Formats: sequence, C-alpha cells, structure tokens
Amino acid sequence: MRFSKLRLTGFKSFVDPTDLIIADGLTGVVGPNGCGKSNLLEALRWVMGENRPKAMRGGGMEDVIFAGTSSRAARNFAEVSLLMDNTERLAPSGFNDSDSLEIIRRITRDIGSAYKTNGKDVRARDVQMLFADASTGAHSPALVRQGQISELINAKPKARRRILEEAAGISGLYQRRHEAELKLKGTEQNLLRVDDVVEQLA
Ligand code: ATP
Repeated sequence: MRFSKLRLTGFKSFVDPTDLIIADGLTGVVGPNGCGKSNLLEALRWVMGENRPKAMRGGGMEDVIFAGTSSRAARNFAEVSLLMDNTERLAPSGFNDSDSLEIIRRITRDIGSAYKTNGKDVRARDVQMLFADASTGAHSPALVRQGQISELINAKPKARRRILEEAAGISGLYQRRHEAELKLKGTEQNLLRVDDVVEQLA
C-alpha cells in the first residue's frame, strides 16, 4: 500500500493541522535541527499503533500532545491521519473494499487513544495487525530512526530475528498464534472445571 498523505494536528511540535503529501518515488525531509523531522517519523509509527512511550521519546503516551510554548497554550488532544492508496487492493482482507484507506489515531488527555479506519471505530489491535500484515508496521525496519543502525549491529540474535520477521510480514501471525494459545489455555481450564463439576454430580 502506498502512503499518500500524513496529517498531524496537535502532535508534538505540529500544533496546527499540517499535511505532508507523500508523492511517488523517494521522499526526503530536510530542515534545521529541532524543526520536527523526527517528529514526522514518530507520527507515522504512532498512527500505525506504536504503544511504547519510549519509542516516541516520551515518558508517557500523552507526551505526544503539543505541550505549549511561551506564546501558545498546550492542546488537549493530538491526532494523526494517514491516507493510503488502495487502488491496487493491496490492503489485507477486511480493509480492501475501497480505493483509499484513511487511518486516524487520536489521543485525548486523561482518556487515551482511539482509532478509526475510513470513519469507523476500530481497535488498536486491528490497526496494528493491518500494518503488521502489510510489513509496514510501527516496528518496521523500513523506518530507520537515529541510532538504530548501531543498535542493529549490537543486537542479540533473537532481537535481529524479530526485525527479519517484521520485514517478512509474519509478526502479525505470531501475535495471532499467541492469542490462539491463550484461548486454548482458557478452554483447557474450563474443561477441567467441567470435569470437576461432572465428578461432583456423579
Ligand atoms: P534533529 O535534526 O536535531 O534530530 P529534528 O528536526 O528531528 O531535529 P525533532 O526531534 O523532530 O527535530 O523535534 C524536536 C522539537 O519538537 C523540539 O523543539 C521539541 O521541543 C519539540 N517537541 C517535542 N515534543 C513536543 C511536544 N509535546 N509539544 C511541543 N513541542 C514538542
């Protein structure tokens, strides 16, 4: 799926609604130190479901909300929208019935995050799975942040394997397997309880 537009509102230094049009080919973002280049990349990870505040260079997830300056008051919410071209129907099933796909994530102080795809409320997990299956997830190796190359070189084999799995688009399958295993365990526990009850009745 091709990303076509990123819109940030109240996200970190982008207090006013800001559109970043992502054209075909290579997109470069240039600007002086501290102008917000890394914030743009973080917005992309965040809308894809990143839930580790540390990956957003913050202490808590609400740190992504514009914190105010000497001339502008802090905001109460931050919102990022990612528009994707789906004319080739590359979105995973459940999402591939329209020409474009818009994912919106909004965080409101003291309330938390909410997600929408094409205007419909969805769960964080649905959005995370959508991108994990498309190999472009929040942890995708295609998004390289500062210092990440040296981290990769020094990483232990297990951590490197996780990166390769994300690139291969199978990390969503691992998540599903984990959820299926939890359900299986719950069912086994229920069966044991049923056995106990049957024994008591016999
Ligand atoms: P460099 O080239 O030095 O890496 P950069 O262009 O990548 O810089 P960023 O790190 O994206 O810049 O942006 C840093 C700016 O974002 C700082 O000015 C910081 O004060 C501002 N910033 C970060 N979080 C918030 C927030 N919650 N509210 C307001 N401003 C914020």
